[in-house]
Amino acid sequence: MKNKLTHSKYIFITGGVISSLGKGITSASLGYLLQQRGYSVTIQKFDPYLNVDPGTMSPTQHGEVFVTDDGAETDLDLGHYERFLGISLHKKNTHSAGQVYFEVISKERKGSYLGKTVQVVPHITNEIKRRIKLYDGEYDFILIEIGGTVGDIESMPFLETQRQMCYEMSSQDVLNIHLTYVPYIKAAHELKTKPTQHSVHTLMQYGIRPDILLCRCEKKLNKDIKQKIGLFCNVEENSVFDVTDADSTIYEVPLNFYKSNLDATILQKMGLPLNNLEITEWEKFVNKIKKPKYSINIGLIGKYTDYEDSYKSILEAFIHAGSINNCKVNVQLINSEDITKDTIADKLKDLDGVLVGPGFGNRGIEGKILTVEYVRENNIPFFGICLGMQCACIEIARNVCNIKNANTKECQQENEEEEYVIDLMDNQKNVKEKGGTMRLGAYPCKITDKNTFAYKAYNQLEIQERHRHRYEFNNKYRDLFIKNGITFAGTSPDGNLIEIIEIPTHKWFVGVQFHPELKSRAVTGHPLFINFIKAALENSLEKNK
Ligand code: GLN
Repeated sequence: MKNKLTHSKYIFITGGVISSLGKGITSASLGYLLQQRGYSVTIQKFDPYLNVDPGTMSPTQHGEVFVTDDGAETDLDLGHYERFLGISLHKKNTHSAGQVYFEVISKERKGSYLGKTVQVVPHITNEIKRRIKLYDGEYDFILIEIGGTVGDIESMPFLETQRQMCYEMSSQDVLNIHLTYVPYIKAAHELKTKPTQHSVHTLMQYGIRPDILLCRCEKKLNKDIKQKIGLFCNVEENSVFDVTDADSTIYEVPLNFYKSNLDATILQKMGLPLNNLEITEWEKFVNKIKKPKYSINIGLIGKYTDYEDSYKSILEAFIHAGSINNCKVNVQLINSEDITKDTIADKLKDLDGVLVGPGFGNRGIEGKILTVEYVRENNIPFFGICLGMQCACIEIARNVCNIKNANTKECQQENEEEEYVIDLMDNQKNVKEKGGTMRLGAYPCKITDKNTFAYKAYNQLEIQERHRHRYEFNNKYRDLFIKNGITFAGTSPDGNLIEIIEIPTHKWFVGVQFHPELKSRAVTGHPLFINFIKAALENSLEKNK
């Protein structure tokens, strides 16, 4: 999209009182509305933790690791930005305090600071500012989401940078939005504004005055409460917005923001005219999510089932594909550690389709392999993603090709004679450090045959998908698999790496080495998810005939 403005405008989004208020969805929804008003928009996330990136963090702590085309391992909020804005983001969109400090300290070791004392202000803040301005001039709006909650020790340098930018730029070029919480105390039948007042006071101690307050609350704020918050927090009353929980889907948030005039208020504050807005497609998409014709049950088999955010992009991809198929997708998260020969039939019996998810390490893998056996034998639509695809290969090796001791090298058993149908990739063999060293980001894949589930979904022979793995299918076993009726439906362009495996005689059996969920977008979805849900829906309709 072409720029409309002569220079970039910045919008900072901070959060207060508690975490998990939905800053990511707020930023994504605002970005979407500005984009639909005809402006070019990007969003950057700044995370105050000291990890260089979330790649080394457990998904049960931090949620899924989202991966960009250029191979950055990022916070899952980048997934929301991509899904809402329909754009692909890059390394430049994701920054952590760890990266900032790493850069400054590396420069210090090189002697780049010429004898100066290296300090948080100005060296760390200058580095943060440099990163905030990486897209300067490239977009009309650059939204900056600051992770964490105002008042956290590690957020301070980021807020100080925000303050400096407000000081340096014209007030129409930078806007501060603060997302806060107004709890409803049931016993007193009252909404309480005090936590919001404290949060804004903390923000003001850093020298930042919010221009707009977004108040998360269970009940709508009446005029009196908005007036009170405005007065105590130094914000105009009509810039205090209530953000109640979306009815049934997060995709309603942009529509709610639009109805409450939030985007119009932002444009007005930034001195911009109110041009037309195009949201009919989005409305249709949301209506289909809210009033689907059909309903199906899908099992998502993994081991990070205690924390749904571990599978965020997969769950969202189901919502997109569901809307396109006019179908509600009820997802049952099933812990693969609970799946044994005795429990499996009971756990999987009501499912119309099964997805075996990505993952790392030994724990829970045998339950995933048993799941593949069950769905293969019972002709239940199956989708395997990354480790899920690898488990499918192990299962097929053991039970179809009769290699009883087949395994993945990742789960090597000491002193066991095993055959590794999934082995470490050649270029991973000398890797010592864990952070950022996997096969990461977008790689091309060629579809080998038009008569495959993959081609029917994509309708093209060359695709690009994102990766995050160290292991791959061991080519030693290719011929044996082919002899046993398996199709290698996708490979790297040189034919070396297996990217997609299929069982052509099955209703729908597709395993992919890559992560299609990372490219599923609101409204348009992802071809493989759309066809998997379609196959599961057909399966369900057939069963209930
Ligand atoms: N652990 C497997 C590998 O590294 C699969 C990774 C994944 O599922 N993302 O190859």
